[in-house]
Amino acid sequence: MNYNKKTVMDMDVAGKKVLLRCDFNVPMAKDGSGVITDDKRIRAALPTIRYLLEQGAAVIACSHMGKPVATYESYVKKQTEKGKDPATLTEEKWRKSLAELSLAPVAKRLSELLEMEVIMAADVVGPDAQAKAAALQPGQLLLLENTRFEKGETKNDPALAKAMADMAELYVSDAFGAVHRAHASTAGVADYLPAVSGFLIQKELEVIGGALAAPKRPLVAILGGSKVSSKIGVIDNLLSIADTIIIGGGMAYTFSAAKGGKIGNSLFEADWQDYANQMVEKAAQKGVKLLLPVDTVCGDKFAPDANVQVVPAGQIPDGWEGLDIGPKTVELYCAAVQDAGTVIWNGPMGVFEFAAFAKGTEAVAEALSKTDAITIIGGGDSAAAVQQLGYADKMSHISTGGGASLEFMEGKELPGVACLLDR
Ligand code: ADP
Ligand code: MG
Repeated sequence: MNYNKKTVMDMDVAGKKVLLRCDFNVPMAKDGSGVITDDKRIRAALPTIRYLLEQGAAVIACSHMGKPVATYESYVKKQTEKGKDPATLTEEKWRKSLAELSLAPVAKRLSELLEMEVIMAADVVGPDAQAKAAALQPGQLLLLENTRFEKGETKNDPALAKAMADMAELYVSDAFGAVHRAHASTAGVADYLPAVSGFLIQKELEVIGGALAAPKRPLVAILGGSKVSSKIGVIDNLLSIADTIIIGGGMAYTFSAAKGGKIGNSLFEADWQDYANQMVEKAAQKGVKLLLPVDTVCGDKFAPDANVQVVPAGQIPDGWEGLDIGPKTVELYCAAVQDAGTVIWNGPMGVFEFAAFAKGTEAVAEALSKTDAITIIGGGDSAAAVQQLGYADKMSHISTGGGASLEFMEGKELPGVACLLDR
């Protein structure tokens, strides 16, 4: 696919202040210790950061992290809705919840990876950020605080977008994981500055876009995860593109129930049964092979220590739930992957977080690691599964954006890309 947006390579960045939107929304240890448990997203931003610094830009990086509540009032409201006693909700507690989502640990990790000083601002567009941005010299790197500390961020408030833009002369977006959101720092700023992409966005769109626009065939799409409702857009779009669609994970049971199968306590979305049947029909009309599980690994509870049995699809006993694809299905799916030209994978085959129900996901990951096909991993949980199972190096591409890659595969416009200058 020809990538048709301007990139940093198309601009003269020397001596310019560049506002660089990254996706530094990395997983952190739950104990508030500030330990980053996976720095993949930070590493993925390095090529663009290095390029800009080497070219003599002064780089003002920014990102969101998690879901902070930007005002004390909404913090009290949200926590009260969750059933917390308002009397215990002090302003100090709110500030602590914000501090846990500071980008300071990211600045530290960035500085280790780049082996240079990273200047950290205490705010996003406040006095500290303003002063540090104004003083920033070519070759220096400043990191602003969590963009979601500003309540205008998720509302795409033009005043916030303008305040961010005012600190710089060029906007570069490399936050692939956030391009499906029209927020102040992902899209709004492009109204006030020339806007181009970095190398990560370019790579993600070239690889995933290429696989959708002109795939090496046969194109096999493996779709799993928890819900039909979250994957319908993708199934629908891929029915016009793929040669084979493989269904696994929790959504398989809605397909099974729609055909009259017995699914016990398995994950089930009653409202999507008609849709599931329509998809099966549509696949037949279009000559797309749609593969559904033929057997199921069930547990007697949703737990790592559940009792386990394998049953044919559609014959799950009462009191049991389907938590992985069975061994016959594994064989069928792995065979379908073997002579693929391209494989797109989005969504695990089972509850891979529990060892007893990880075999299906593991077998598919292993099969992908062995094919000569171009292998693209789309979803956040599938990417984590591939990593956890040790197959990350064997895949052609693991997307850094779960939600973004999903929306891209649905054929939707991505606001954080649409706002960039056309080449
Ligand atoms: P991705 O992030 O890769 O797109 P999803 O977010 O759609 O994937 O779904 C991932 C989740 O689906 C995992 O946490 C996994 O445990 C769950 N899941 C997979 N199969 C089942 C199942 N049979 N029953 C319940 N949950 C399942
Ligand atoms: Mg997910």
